[in-house]
Amino acid sequence: MSDMRKLAQLMEDLNTMLAGCMRCGMCQAVCPLFSVTRKESDVARGKLAMLDGLLNKMFENPDRVFEHLNRCLLCGSCAVNCPSGVKVLDIFIKARAILTAFIGLSTEKKIILRNILANPVNFDKILELVARYQRFFVKTVSNIPGTSCARVASPILKQRHFVPLAPNPFHRIVPYLNTPAGKSGIKIAFFTGCLIDKVFPNVAQAALRVFSFHEVGVFMPQGQGCCGIPSISLGDAKSFEKLLIYNIEKYKPFDFDHLVTLCATCTATIKKIWPLMASGSLVENLESDVEKLSKKVLDINQLVVSKIGVKTKNHENNNEKKIITYHDPCHLKKSLGVSVEPRTLIKLNKHYFFREMPEADWCCGMGGSFNLQHYDISSSIGERKRNNIKASGCSAVATACPACMIQLSDMLSKSNDKIEVKHTIEIYADSLKEHY
Ligand code: SF4
Ligand code: SF4
Repeated sequence: MSDMRKLAQLMEDLNTMLAGCMRCGMCQAVCPLFSVTRKESDVARGKLAMLDGLLNKMFENPDRVFEHLNRCLLCGSCAVNCPSGVKVLDIFIKARAILTAFIGLSTEKKIILRNILANPVNFDKILELVARYQRFFVKTVSNIPGTSCARVASPILKQRHFVPLAPNPFHRIVPYLNTPAGKSGIKIAFFTGCLIDKVFPNVAQAALRVFSFHEVGVFMPQGQGCCGIPSISLGDAKSFEKLLIYNIEKYKPFDFDHLVTLCATCTATIKKIWPLMASGSLVENLESDVEKLSKKVLDINQLVVSKIGVKTKNHENNNEKKIITYHDPCHLKKSLGVSVEPRTLIKLNKHYFFREMPEADWCCGMGGSFNLQHYDISSSIGERKRNNIKASGCSAVATACPACMIQLSDMLSKSNDKIEVKHTIEIYADSLKEHY
């Protein structure tokens, strides 16, 4: 059988899903990538047409299609606005995995994904080493607290103003927790996520103050792993499955009501991509175990507002209040439909006055590995977000995803804007101080 026929057979699963696209082009107007590049091949319609061409053996060059498929933020704006309900992200994720298995993974990606990321002990050790020595190759920039840039020209860091690794990751500050449910009657399992653990341990500590205030019982296992989004975004189903099994083993033996994360991307990955990729797995019980766990995952804003039940209060406005705005992470609003709860939490802090920015749910341009591979396009998309934040007149912007926090900090710091970037749970935890 020829290689192209073999590939078409592997892709046969996607046939019915691809058939749903009517080529109406509604996805074009909402695609942040197209807004910058104006290329049809960057829009969902263009990518779906290319996949269809591969499936029907009209193209001879899967590498080229793969390249186009990877030029995508996986923001979900196309999927949520598609009148035909095409499951665009499911198709893209599955197609990336099929094409990666067919074309092969580069040696460097294999080492990074399979030997480091999918091996949490190695991953933690390496990043702790980097954190220890990062001061030799980064320098602090003063406009936004915590942002840095490279001391020397670096092909990876480029002109980024990035948030450096924390000197102590959260798992060193609080290695393990298992506390009983108090008056809330709620017991959660806390899924920290890599960026919160290694870059924003202060945000995890704010969350612990919130859990303690509301007497929520917390189970947090030692040696947590990544949710797997970097692996599956790069098409490596092997390291993704290894992380799935690792995570299931960490949480399966324990009883809790909700699996809570502070990261919109982790929540969306556990809720949507874990079951998508575990479906039909040959690993014993993996599909059913994943289904049970993914049903329990909950974003922290949802936990506090919908499960603990805090209510909005009307505070008086005055000139001493700082103006704060909110950026909707794509994976929270578009993938999971959560947008009211984060705003409710912000409004509970009487020291801030909340003001919406224009286009609050327009993508910030981060897109995880997209930012690493296409920094210039990512920055152009981010520039629009920066202008909208600035237009709100705020002195702080809150969001509910650590990856968005990194992108917003970069954009604002490079423009020399004195605007703080915060997680919504930090804003809410601060509002509880007067009750301590
Ligand atoms: S993906 Fe949806 S919105 Fe885009 S062209 Fe196809 S049917 Fe239309
Ligand atoms: S996921 Fe986002 S970037 Fe990718 S095609 Fe859809 S709208 Fe464009």
